[in-house]
Amino acid sequence: MIKAAFILLLLVSYMENKIIARRFKLLSQLMELHNVNPFKIRSIANAAFKIDKLPYSLTGKTTEELEKIEGIGKSIAANVQELVSTGTLTDLEELTAATPPGVIDMLHIKGIGPKKINVIWHDLGIDNVGELYYACNENRLAEAKGFGLKTQEEILKAIEFTMASNGKFLYARARPDAEELLFFLRDTFPGAHKHFAGEYRRCCEIIIELIIVIGTRDKEAAITNLSTTALLTNVKAEGNIINGYSKNGLPVKLVVVDKRDYYMELFVQTGNPEHVKAILNRVSDVIDQPESEELIYKKAGLEWMPPELREGDSFLDKAVAGLLPDLIDAHDLKGTLHNHSTWSDGINTLEEMALYCRDEMKLEYLGICDHSKSAFYAKGLSIERVLQQHEEIDHLNKKLENFRILKGIESDILNDGSLDYPDEILQRFDFIVASVHSVLNMNKEKATTRLVKAIENPYTTILGHPTGRLLLSRKGYEIDYKKVIDACAANGVSIEINANPLRLDLDWRWHQYALEKGVWLAINPDAHRTDGLHDVQYGVLVARKGGLTKETCLNALDLQQLTDRFAAKKNNLLIKQF
Ligand SMILES: [Zn+2]
Ligand SMILES: [Zn+2]
Repeated sequence: MIKAAFILLLLVSYMENKIIARRFKLLSQLMELHNVNPFKIRSIANAAFKIDKLPYSLTGKTTEELEKIEGIGKSIAANVQELVSTGTLTDLEELTAATPPGVIDMLHIKGIGPKKINVIWHDLGIDNVGELYYACNENRLAEAKGFGLKTQEEILKAIEFTMASNGKFLYARARPDAEELLFFLRDTFPGAHKHFAGEYRRCCEIIIELIIVIGTRDKEAAITNLSTTALLTNVKAEGNIINGYSKNGLPVKLVVVDKRDYYMELFVQTGNPEHVKAILNRVSDVIDQPESEELIYKKAGLEWMPPELREGDSFLDKAVAGLLPDLIDAHDLKGTLHNHSTWSDGINTLEEMALYCRDEMKLEYLGICDHSKSAFYAKGLSIERVLQQHEEIDHLNKKLENFRILKGIESDILNDGSLDYPDEILQRFDFIVASVHSVLNMNKEKATTRLVKAIENPYTTILGHPTGRLLLSRKGYEIDYKKVIDACAANGVSIEINANPLRLDLDWRWHQYALEKGVWLAINPDAHRTDGLHDVQYGVLVARKGGLTKETCLNALDLQQLTDRFAAKKNNLLIKQF
């Protein structure tokens, strides 16, 4: 008993130099974040550096002995004593308490130190890694003091690396690896069947594991070949399953089966377990080596279900009734709404965005929704700038053939739920996307009331990114989905499916409820540069998952239909429809 206590005491009071150095380093970084006297910061940082390199342990040294070590003065010696004997450091505790945890997390991002974090936190008002990632995506860092496009890109990559090391991937980040792997498999096994399965084939917003099913005549040879593939790391083969990681760390599972078992395996590996069970429960016959997935569904008395819909039994009733939705496709989109330009925080001009939409994306219209005046961090438009922008739009619309720029605005929903301009300005826009960008920290009731108030504003056309979530990094505020969607139905307001791969908000799990209530959805890329317009593809994928058809997608309307609908909304005609 006494011996155990003695060992415990030793464990508590012994501290490696490395740990002491690390605490001092963190202390110096936090001091920098809080603008403490630079001389003091330097002496702490120096001490951290020196302690780390010492050839002997500091534990057990007296204060006098510590003071004599080069680089450790009186006050640092006292700090070391405190740290070794109590395990804590009062100065460090106090500064930690005064710093948002998300800001401390930023210190772990490679490529940014306290100086840059200071700007991010104090000047840009960003206090967690999720928001920082999104700000990089919105190009908000490039122009901040001491940054630039290159630093912004580096930060973006560093954050993505951290996300990946947590074992979860955004669909869009998993895609390049997935495509490359399939390309390799096509090359290696030209005669075999192969296809994605699992979450990736179902187009889930987050991918934990990429599954590919391979059906081949020579199973053993394929397994042997894949067990030593250089395309994956940490390869482990067990039976007919080969596990490994892609070069970016995405977990991969290859399932190798005989060619005749391929479609059954593909079906089983694609749907989530509840879905597979629900379908197989309907089959009374034996399904022996089906030659297609269609055949499996046919035996279950159903038409073939697109992989996106194979989540539980959510679309089973519709499949039974033969009423599966004819899912929307990227080609159905006639235009794009909710995009930014150099007027606020975008990096391409209005004209560049318009020409790209017309010539590259073959669209009929571009809805431009720069930020409104409260979004000062994003150069939100003052009333005067709104009027100037409208002049430029009028001018460009005269110049651009076969194309139209629509005057929109992404109006901040203020804390009390009101929009950001007086009515006489609001009525000048063709349409208005209303979004929350500030004071995201609110409870469900407050968030719901705030959104409903904005939805009830007669000028609101579309509710933007309803929960403010950033996948894998910010949860978003909770809302009462039913109340918010019902309010949209009652007021003829459409809801955005924000297509940024980080948002995908409205969540697909609520699309059917919205559609049943008669609410239209808009697939909006929220692009801040011409490249960002392509994000619309991710919005289309989740819209398909939610069961959206082109008939109730706002931007599947052609220009005439859309402007008619906008006019009807402005004249309060849509309210009566519901
Ligand atoms: Zn926004
Ligand atoms: Zn936006």
